[in-house]
Amino acid sequence: MKACKSCRLIVEDYALTCPACQGADLTEKFSGQLVVNDPEKSEIGKKLSVKVPGKYAIKIRR
Ligand SMILES: [Zn+2]
Repeated sequence: MKACKSCRLIVEDYALTCPACQGADLTEKFSGQLVVNDPEKSEIGKKLSVKVPGKYAIKIRR
């Protein structure tokens, strides 16, 4: 699994770009996972500025 550095979406290892923001900056160095089903209603979704439902990394290591 990899996570997008721009929007934190978690994608499969074979993904080359992030389906949410089209970014190509993916990293395996992330920790924590968070499922956001309804970003508009989720407090934590707002905190992470999530706009698309999906699975997100909580922390990205830089
Ligand atoms: Zn992204």
